[in-house]
This record gives sequence, C-alpha cells and structure tokens, in this order.
Amino acid sequence: MDTPTPLQTLDETWSRMLCVVAHPDDLEFGSAAAVARWTGQGKTVGYCMVTSGEAGIDALAPDECRPVREAEQVESARIVGVPEVTFLGFPDGILEYGVGLRRAIALEVRRFRPDIVVTGNFRDTFGGRNLNQADHIAVGRAVLDAVRDAGNRWVFAEQLVDGLEPWGGVREVWAAGSPDATHGVDTTDTFDLGVASLEAHGAYIAGLGWEHFDGREFLEGFARQAGQRLGVALAASFEVFPMGWAGDE
Ligand SMILES: [Zn+2]
Repeated sequence: MDTPTPLQTLDETWSRMLCVVAHPDDLEFGSAAAVARWTGQGKTVGYCMVTSGEAGIDALAPDECRPVREAEQVESARIVGVPEVTFLGFPDGILEYGVGLRRAIALEVRRFRPDIVVTGNFRDTFGGRNLNQADHIAVGRAVLDAVRDAGNRWVFAEQLVDGLEPWGGVREVWAAGSPDATHGVDTTDTFDLGVASLEAHGAYIAGLGWEHFDGREFLEGFARQAGQRLGVALAASFEVFPMGWAGDE
C-alpha cells in the first residue's frame, strides 16, 4: 500500500467562517471537532443548512421530521460553539444545482461576510467505490459559484437593498472529507465535542437502523487516518479551493 500523501496545515488566520451544507448531520460526520477548535480560538462560525433533512428518517413523514431534525441540528451546533443555524428550506433529496440555489447561498454569504466558507465533499465518491449523494454534489458546486456571485454587484442585484453590499472577501472554500483533501487541522483536543455534536442527532441516527452504530468509533476511524497524514493523533481533512482570480496558489 502507498504511503498516504501528507496534508498541509490549514490556515487559521481568519476570523469568520460560514459552513453551508445540504443536510443536518453533514457537518457532524467529520467537521464538528474542527469547528469546536475554531470557536474555542474565539472565531465566529455560522451554519447554513440548505435543506432541513426532512426526507432523512424512513419512519417519519417530512412534516413531522423537519422540526425534529432542525432541533437536533441547533443543539449539535450549540455544542461546538455555533449560536446560529439558518435553514434555507430547499427540498431534501431532490436538490438541483442551478441559479436558484446559487442565489440563496449568495444571499447568506453577503449577510454573513465570511473569510472562509466550508462545505461538504462534492466529488463523485468519498474515495472508495461508494457514491456520494446527489444533494451533496449539487450544494458543493453551488457554494463555489455562489461565493463568486456574492462578490459581483450585478449578479442577484435585487438582494442589494437595505444596506446589504456585495461580499468578495471569501479567501478560500474548504470541502470537508474530500477524497482529494489537501489540508488538515488537528482535532485531538476537541474530538470529544465533535462526538457529542454527532450524538445530538439521536433521532436521525436511530432512524438509520445501523445496528451497533458507535459515533465515536466511526469518527475516530477517519480522524486517525487524517491525523496520520498531518502528523498528529486526530485531524479533520479538507480540500482547499482558493477563491481569488490571480492564480496566486
Ligand atoms: Zn448529507
């Protein structure tokens, strides 16, 4: 087996981060421990859920499921120091990449004015043969484009009222858990908070019906692999997309 490629250390010289993902639980399957580290450093992190994950529990109809999943997400965010979760209300399971999705995400970027935007892996797979999920792919692609849209005064110009301005300050987009991850962050000290954040999705995890699912064990497997590549015990990995035009990477 090949030696795994080393990960570079992620930049931590920023102050505001917006995480935009398809579903409640997406951030908790790998990124929450990193978020806990960053909020612990005094950084401001906001969460934006494109859907409410209302199609995620087989035994629960969407209208009953939605408030359950939103409440679990708000609690799991609170555990890692994120006070604000926005739900965009797009339909779970049938997201389409397109201008409507870009418009909604661009508005959140303009409102939040982040230095860094995090999204989930939007490559076709997670590295093996298991396919990624359609909503994840649509959201990741839309996030990259919406970050650029947010900086252009003439794109979604109708949003620029009541003092809202274009925001071109996003330096990088980071896609969590990508098979093409380039960078990592040490999560050894905040790993337990990441586990607690995942466990806050109790109804969802129970609904998966995975027998003997152990959140800690699950997260530890990935965190150890990333940690080995970064030279620490536990880490989270990200694929980094520089958002400038200058080609300075
Ligand atoms: Zn998901």
